[in-house]
Amino acid sequence: MVAPHTLCQPLRSATPLGPRAVVIGGGVAGLAAASALAPHVASITLIEQEALPVEPLIRRHTPQAPHVHALLDSGRQALEKLMPGFGAALQSAGSLPLRVRSQWRSHDGHAWCAPEDTGPVVLSQSRALFEHVLRQRVLALPHLSIEIARVRGLRLAPTENDTRQPRITGVDLEDQTRRQKSLSAEIVVDASGRAGDTLKWFKAAGLQPPTETTRCPDIRYVSACFARLPADPAHLPSAWLRPAQAPATQGLVMAPIEDGRWVVTLIGRFGAAMPRDAHGFRQRMLELAGPELQLHIKGAPMLSPLRGFAIKSVRFRRFDRTARELPLGYFPIGDTIATFNPLYGQGMSVAALQAQALSRALYDNTQPVDQQAAYLAAAHSPADWAWTIGGAVDRAYTQMCQQEDAACDHLAARLRLAFSASVLRSELRGQIDRVLHLLEPPDKLDAFPTEPV
Ligand SMILES: Cc1cc2nc3c(=O)[nH]c(=O)nc-3n(C[C@H](O)[C@H](O)[C@H](O)COP(=O)(O)OP(=O)(O)OC[C@H]3O[C@@H](n4cnc5c(N)ncnc54)[C@H](O)[C@@H]3O)c2cc1C
Repeated sequence: MVAPHTLCQPLRSATPLGPRAVVIGGGVAGLAAASALAPHVASITLIEQEALPVEPLIRRHTPQAPHVHALLDSGRQALEKLMPGFGAALQSAGSLPLRVRSQWRSHDGHAWCAPEDTGPVVLSQSRALFEHVLRQRVLALPHLSIEIARVRGLRLAPTENDTRQPRITGVDLEDQTRRQKSLSAEIVVDASGRAGDTLKWFKAAGLQPPTETTRCPDIRYVSACFARLPADPAHLPSAWLRPAQAPATQGLVMAPIEDGRWVVTLIGRFGAAMPRDAHGFRQRMLELAGPELQLHIKGAPMLSPLRGFAIKSVRFRRFDRTARELPLGYFPIGDTIATFNPLYGQGMSVAALQAQALSRALYDNTQPVDQQAAYLAAAHSPADWAWTIGGAVDRAYTQMCQQEDAACDHLAARLRLAFSASVLRSELRGQIDRVLHLLEPPDKLDAFPTEPV
């Protein structure tokens, strides 16, 4: 095992000058991947279909950005290892570090849980600011260039001994003037995200698609920003999470972000009616906030229009199970691998953990075939944890129990026991939080007492 800080140092590479790398997508996963690649490759071309803003702005191709977007502790630590000082840069731009349970407060369906510190720290900011600070760090890399163009396909060639999968030789692009061209590369990181064309590219190239599992958490978000009312400047505001708890289908998340704002997200599941105007939004927000929270938000000026987002289904693509058919040099990451129920705030952290896995796989291995195998195994673990945790928590809804899922049922049972046992044992609360923050695998909960106390 390599000490984390050494992963950022220059290292041996597959060719004397190092391979050329292309990253498809300039979202969170693509930027984190570029940072992971940097010490290992001769050049990186980051290809993004829309012009990248110089300010923290919501981009057209990340329509999820107006909604609450917090970074779990695992994602915070992974990015810090890849880019030392990243957390400090984000905080000096306005992100708030919130201690889980004491400042990252959650509601158990009956009451707000008692404040206490269990260890993890969440970074709370707008998604636009998060991506902006990450972009500033990554665009400063000396051997990185940006190409504003849309990737149209993967370029492949047979491997020399022709005994297994083809290898990547680059990508085909169409630029903003519709000019077609191609870029050569030995490594292609696919960070094209939830709306990316990965499966189309695979089909066009005659590649076997990954196996895919889907679920239907059926969620709608409506969000708006509000001014935070003047408070004691020495007192860091808390975030308040009241996600819909089965059988309820409505919930709210209220998170403090940069520039003295709240981002408030209203949640509706399984067809719950959502407010359509500012008046309806305020009414629903105050109802769900309850008396404890109303004093923070009642009368606060609304600073943005309402923005909605609907997620009928999420999916997990197991690229690791078709690893022998994947083109050598192809590395999927982030939402290209899995999309999650956004209520559990996992997607950006999984992408960061996968970028860390990419860095380690390139560091530990010299041969492309070993690099890819090591990466796929390591990158699917955090996705699997997040997928199983989300599925297990969602099993509380009868609507989410129509498919058989032994792993989620097992974890759901373990979580119920763990929560029950943790009422009296504070160290168990910390253990649960470490699992929910993807700092430890869910099977850590197997060591919990097997009977409720
Ligand atoms: C409503 C909502 C709330 C969420 N809340 C949280 C949260 O609180 N915490 C959290 O961690 N995660 C959250 N997530 C998940 C998080 O947004 C994603 O996991 C994360 O953005 C993944 O980033 P990505 O880079 O993989 O994909 P994306 O953000 O989708 O980025 C993909 C990029 O690729 C570009 N692209 C696509 N195709 C091409 C092409 N052919 N050529 C060139 N460029 C291309 C796109 O333009 C885009 O910029 C939430 C998601 C949703 C939907």
